[in-house]
Amino acid sequence: MAERKRILITGAAGFLGSHLCDRFIAEDYHVIGMDNLITGDLRNIAHLFKLENFEFYNHDVSKFVYVPGDLHYILHFASPASPIDYLKIPIQTLKVGSLGTHNLLGLARSKNARMLIASTSEVYGDPSVNPQPEEYWGNVNPVGPRGVYDEAKRFQEAITMAYHTFHGLETRIVRIFNTYGPRMRLNDGRVLPAFIGQALRGESLTMFGDGSQTRSFCYVDDLVEGIYRLLFSDYSQPMNIGNPDEITIRQFGEEIIKLTGTDQKLISLPLPTDDPKQRRPDITKAKSILGWEPKVSRSEGLKITYDYFKSLPEKEIQHKDFKYFNKN
Ligand code: NAD
Ligand code: UDP
Repeated sequence: MAERKRILITGAAGFLGSHLCDRFIAEDYHVIGMDNLITGDLRNIAHLFKLENFEFYNHDVSKFVYVPGDLHYILHFASPASPIDYLKIPIQTLKVGSLGTHNLLGLARSKNARMLIASTSEVYGDPSVNPQPEEYWGNVNPVGPRGVYDEAKRFQEAITMAYHTFHGLETRIVRIFNTYGPRMRLNDGRVLPAFIGQALRGESLTMFGDGSQTRSFCYVDDLVEGIYRLLFSDYSQPMNIGNPDEITIRQFGEEIIKLTGTDQKLISLPLPTDDPKQRRPDITKAKSILGWEPKVSRSEGLKITYDYFKSLPEKEIQHKDFKYFNKN
């Protein structure tokens, strides 16, 4: 039997990282998960610990990263990802996108591994073109509250491309648009868990601003398939992966009210600083280069996600705050 290929997945205990671990285990890889659990939860990968082809390191990737043995692939997904998280832990967010990425690029180079980084639609900032093609350079405020995330991700893309150009490293850059599904943290502040959590607790749904801002939500299984295809393609420029089905936040709130059957209403709270007014991926490249497009409709994906949140212990549904560990 051929030796299994070995893949390191950072952010493994998080929402997307845990789904990626599942996918590569299903494809019979040896998966090495790494996470410092600052926003992640070991329960997301608890089912993998019994497998001989899974191992886990509790480690902060902003510090020197060492992994013994061969490595064929690295997926760098470690980073706070929700606006509430990166506002509360701004320095760690900057470090994991910059120092963490540098450490992992060095590791990839020493192991001759292919590295894929999780970038984001936030590199487009508050975009003045809609939908956003990869060629759009963005409209980002570096010193606004979102700057810690946006600029870390922009630096991450720049250093990854430099390792590709100057060291000939095999690299891939995925620009992920708002993705949702089971294992999101109910209290991470992102709009979907916020609305569903509020509906489950019998609270009003907190719509920021007048709700006319738009987002385009992608179900996690579709995203994972897109990332899988990108990793094994020979495309090293940034690639958008997301669902172009755009909706206003007000309409989205109304859909959640209908789905959950709550008798609560939307209430309007102030719009956060620099909140993008519109967001929708142009996925022409993913379609033509990867033969990829999303398959799961919002109504199907929301139903699965709602069932997941509903099945959580009542104590967790009621628990609105989140404690951050690893403050340094
Ligand atoms: P998440 O918070 O669920 O997962 C992030 C994981 O990274 C957590 O388990 C956290 O503990 C870990 N982590 C953070 N800093 C670390 C460090 N220094 N060392 C080791 N581990 C660390 O968030 P997510 O939604 O799964 O996002 C994963 C990645 O995808 C992030 O890089 C994020 O920027 C990117 N992304 C996500 C979305 C989305 O819609 N979910 C959109 C765009 C980009
Ligand atoms: N939002 C909202 N109510 C909430 C949380 C978020 O109206 O309780 C809005 C937010 O202002 C933004 C959109 O929903 O316009 C998506 O926010 P999220 O934090 O999920 O991610 P973003 O796309 O802004 O990174």
